[in-house]
Amino acid sequence: MTARSSVRPIPAIHGGAPVPLPLWRDWRWQLAHRLRTPEALSAALPLTPAERRALAAPAAWRMPLLLTPYTASLLSTLPPSHPLRRAHLPDLREARHAPAEYPDPLGEDAHQVAPHLIHAYPHKVLFLVSRDCATACRYCTRAHLPPCPGCPPPDPDPALRWIAAHPEITDVLLSGGDPLLLPDETLDALLTSLRAIPHVRLLRIGTKVPATLPMRITPALVRILRKHRPLWLSLHFTHPDELTPETKKSLRLLLDAGLPLCSQTVLLRHVNDDESTLRALFENLVLNGVKPYYLHYTDAAQGTAHFRSPIPRGRSLLRALNGTVPGYAIPLFMQDTPGGGGKHPLGPS
Ligand SMILES: *Cc1c(COP(=O)(O)O)cnc(C)c1O
Repeated sequence: MTARSSVRPIPAIHGGAPVPLPLWRDWRWQLAHRLRTPEALSAALPLTPAERRALAAPAAWRMPLLLTPYTASLLSTLPPSHPLRRAHLPDLREARHAPAEYPDPLGEDAHQVAPHLIHAYPHKVLFLVSRDCATACRYCTRAHLPPCPGCPPPDPDPALRWIAAHPEITDVLLSGGDPLLLPDETLDALLTSLRAIPHVRLLRIGTKVPATLPMRITPALVRILRKHRPLWLSLHFTHPDELTPETKKSLRLLLDAGLPLCSQTVLLRHVNDDESTLRALFENLVLNGVKPYYLHYTDAAQGTAHFRSPIPRGRSLLRALNGTVPGYAIPLFMQDTPGGGGKHPLGPS
């Protein structure tokens, strides 16, 4: 089930010419050559009629179209019906706004204590340090803050001052956007500033780059991250076919640097809400040194109803895995209450 061959460039991404491998393996080249238009995507991938209809209606999209050449090439190796396409390609149903869906489903705006800093729990803060993601997820919780390719990162100073002035904050989770899209020097400076605050003990980074831009995990980046330990990475995996040789290599580099890895997965209807997919995903994460941490019930974000798999289904899937996989492979099933009520576990028990 897990993809075994390397993800190779598809020539259509580079005007029909073959992409030299040194460029392909350069994360900056990947970012600069992201697919952002229906024309670029249809040149790279044979599309289904439904995908073509959705691409022709950008007014219906809840997120911009944004894929790394790496993601597009991975999709090109998978059958057209593959669930990972639904996670990354626009769908006309994104225009539907179901009742009890919100533009800011977690009420993060109301919990903002400084620019880009969300304080919803007593001892921890969520610090949105980047405005860009490598590849856009159609089910994103923060569609009200869509990825902004090439935009300068937000000014971190007011948030750093707030954290320094609040000794009760011991745990800082960097997110965005994707913090690992920041240039090495920017990220190093930010982590250094956080480490200079004596009461900050745990640093965490939420990132999807091992799945969507694995070449970003360079030896230079890993050296920076290890300097700032204890630092945990909260990765984001959706499907076992994301565990390509490139992705596994990026995980090994992080593990070898002593960085604990966990993974969050959003339970998505017809993408991963079946027993064999979740089993393969969680087992293979454990085999690659990643602890499945949270399985999230889809947040109440506008235009995501077609992704929402019911809570009883999530519970029964975890029950089915219980006892048949290593206990390490079972995440907590979590719901983040709409309006900012916080996360609470729905299962497995
Ligand atoms: C999820 C979240 C955290 C981190 O929560 P953990 O359950 O400790 O992983 C921190 N702040 C906010 C606002 C969050 O949504």
